[in-house]
Amino acid sequence: MDRSPLLIVGHGTRSTAGVDQFAALVDRIRRRGVVDDVEGGFIELSRPPLTDAVGALVGRGHRRLVALPLVLAAAGHGKGDIPAALAREKRRHPGLRYAYGRPLGPHPLLHEVLARRIDTVLDGAERLGTWVALIGRGSTDPDANAEVTKVARLLWEGRGYAGVEPGFISLAEPSVPAVLERLRRLGARRIVVAPYFLFAGVLPDRIVAQSDAYAAEHPELDVRVADLIGDCDELADLVLHRHAEALRGDIRMNCDTCAYRVALPGFVDKVGRPQTPHHHPDDPADGPGHHHHDHHHADHRHEPALRPGQVAVVGGGPGPDDLITVRGKALLDAADVVVADRLAPVGLLNGLRPDVLVVDAAKVPRGPGMAQEAINETLVRHARAGRRVVRLKGGDPYVFGRGHEEVLACAAAGVQTVLVPGVSSAVAAPALAGVPVTHRGVAHDVTVVSGHLPPGHPESLVDWAALARARGTVVLLMAVETIGKIATALVAHGRAPDTPVLAVYEAGHPGQREWSTRLDEVGARAAREGLRPPAVFVLGPVVDLRS
Ligand code: SAH
Repeated sequence: MDRSPLLIVGHGTRSTAGVDQFAALVDRIRRRGVVDDVEGGFIELSRPPLTDAVGALVGRGHRRLVALPLVLAAAGHGKGDIPAALAREKRRHPGLRYAYGRPLGPHPLLHEVLARRIDTVLDGAERLGTWVALIGRGSTDPDANAEVTKVARLLWEGRGYAGVEPGFISLAEPSVPAVLERLRRLGARRIVVAPYFLFAGVLPDRIVAQSDAYAAEHPELDVRVADLIGDCDELADLVLHRHAEALRGDIRMNCDTCAYRVALPGFVDKVGRPQTPHHHPDDPADGPGHHHHDHHHADHRHEPALRPGQVAVVGGGPGPDDLITVRGKALLDAADVVVADRLAPVGLLNGLRPDVLVVDAAKVPRGPGMAQEAINETLVRHARAGRRVVRLKGGDPYVFGRGHEEVLACAAAGVQTVLVPGVSSAVAAPALAGVPVTHRGVAHDVTVVSGHLPPGHPESLVDWAALARARGTVVLLMAVETIGKIATALVAHGRAPDTPVLAVYEAGHPGQREWSTRLDEVGARAAREGLRPPAVFVLGPVVDLRS
């Protein structure tokens, strides 16, 4: 057999027990002595990082590896994150090549282990009359959820359980309590909850907690939780089996129901993005003569649409980490360099891989009045060095975000850009404070205004008199310093002094505060409150609708 060195790639976990089990499996495979070298590494959260594992193998002279994603089903990690991490390693080590193996499951060896784990917890109780709730991780990838359902069926076949029902601990239904309730209604009295998980972690712990909670509420039921698959000989056998397959170029993945390729109901937006489709032999681009050694592995990647040398200008939303778009987050996860603004959702930076370079845009070294030029130069320099660059901005990049200046600067330097819109604080801050910027029968227009330059400033482009005449909604950004002058100008130009105004500070953050007042009092109130940025003011009749 081909003894090519094996790189085992795990996702990573906050659980030390999980990391230990991974290490024990790597060790078990190493002791088998059937491949030339074995290393394991994680793409996030745990040590050793993937880059160290690859570095160790390269350091021992290996240039041709089998890389195996240690995942049960093909979902985001197997299709996207792990291939993206491997692609970075290839760039780091010129000449490095790898064959990418397919996910572990479904496989009879795993079903055997699951059955044994179930028998152990049954402790002599009969399979007959035992219902099994097989709990998978759950994914936004419908194909991965379908795989768990398939495993449930295969586990049932021929083993004599009363039945096996799939459930999920995250992102998919039925949940653990929902599947237990379903089994109870089907008449189950004895239920084994079997986690379809390789190693310990936060999610398997949650399965135990939710099962225990359900059992406590239903003392008439006998609910037991089986052990995880864990480090064992069957798993080592299966990994080595996948190693051999990868070398033969046998990487059969189920592409017929891949949401990145086929429009599945409810997932139409996934087709072609944010990850590109993997290897599909019937795709026209995949013609003959294309099959050099590395070919199918490269094609097998589900990489987000941010290529080395490109800059993605990403709107991060108004600040809480979960108001970024799905596309923005995918590109952020693919970045080698992130240049972030202070008002961007900086909490997301903690979740980046340790090797990602994070640049604080506020600290980019520069000369007087050169901030934007220095940032543009930073973006261009990293892109030209072949890195994937994400420029992470607060709100929407094109709403007072100078996003287009950066896009134009990149274009002038010949660097390609991708723009990802974001949730602008102009709309989101009022909304998060309970105020719609438009409302049928109340306001049919909304004007978003920068308060950066006060009325009367020679460079101001705002027609304050027109805003005073208008009766709809005005949203002011960057106006904390100028709100008093703005209010005075609006009243002077004829806007009603009692127009309601709402100030929203740190919208979406734990420290969000808001207060409302009248237009002729807002300046004094802001001073009295000691209001500081970031805050938006919204004025107009919609403020009275506040929920
Ligand atoms: N591109 C951003 C705006 C950048 S200008 C967007 O679309 O949201 C910076 C101004 O945005 C701040 O002065 C403030 O007026 C507003 N802002 C941004 N985030 C905010 C938040 N979380 N709460 C309140 N105002 C915010």
